[in-house]
Amino acid sequence: MSERPIFRFAPSPNGYLHLGHAYSALLNAKMARASGGRLLLRVEDIDIARCRPEHERAIYDDLAWLGVEWEQPVRRQSEHFADYAQALGVLRERGLIYPCFCTRGDISRAIAGRTDWPRDPDGSPLYPGTCRHLDAAERSARLAAGKRVAWRLDTAKAVDLVGGLSWSEFETGNFGRELAAEPGAWGDVVLARRDVGTSYHISVVVDDAKQGVTDIVRGKDLFASTGMHRLLQVLLRLHAPRYHHHDLIIDANGHKLSKSRGSPTLRDLRASGMTSDDIRRAVGL
Ligand code: GLU
Repeated sequence: MSERPIFRFAPSPNGYLHLGHAYSALLNAKMARASGGRLLLRVEDIDIARCRPEHERAIYDDLAWLGVEWEQPVRRQSEHFADYAQALGVLRERGLIYPCFCTRGDISRAIAGRTDWPRDPDGSPLYPGTCRHLDAAERSARLAAGKRVAWRLDTAKAVDLVGGLSWSEFETGNFGRELAAEPGAWGDVVLARRDVGTSYHISVVVDDAKQGVTDIVRGKDLFASTGMHRLLQVLLRLHAPRYHHHDLIIDANGHKLSKSRGSPTLRDLRASGMTSDDIRRAVGL
């Protein structure tokens, strides 16, 4: 692995970039520059139904306009499904993932009326564990039917296996502190979605390892995910990067910027006459 720190910016081409993305990309570029590091770009396009080529082209165009420079080649997740399948195979052999046959409706029915049902850090109800309890014969019979299924992590079993986990959270100026990872907060998370055979969590940890990423700079909205990523890194025997979770850019109403909220995209801002220097000033970089 290179001696120089390796940073990455990893947008998903399921919409156009907004100011929040600009901040994250510019901060990665700045921190990489300050530490003599390298900056890689990864296109997180496993969600083949929602990702669009025009959005991917716009990522390259918007970043170039902002003056962010990244190394080639760009890693496109849709070209690496085999890597994610291999990692899932490791977890399957270790008996740490199980097939889940539940539909969304099955899950809603299982927790119906339970207003106090626990939720994961993204606000989704924790999986009630229905398919974790299937016996081996039933599981094989259902798998033999040949339908595509989701695979879930047996999180409690995995946590028992690895014990306490933490990660190193660094700030600018290299000051770092150790934070406790809490992967249990996610419950039995889906690691292989029925539709695409992988998931955000598994793809990210596999790619960060494949790309030799040492310094992960991303938004605080992914803070809780880091707990799950540390668990997967230990289970898959991958190196532990350092993390910096930056503040999120919020709009005038105090909301995080997002496509669904109709936040202006960088293309909109550019069309309205803003320059890339204006964007840098707007995000304080
Ligand atoms: N693709 C994710 C996003 O656009 C970021 C993933 C990461 O930085 O780990 O929110």
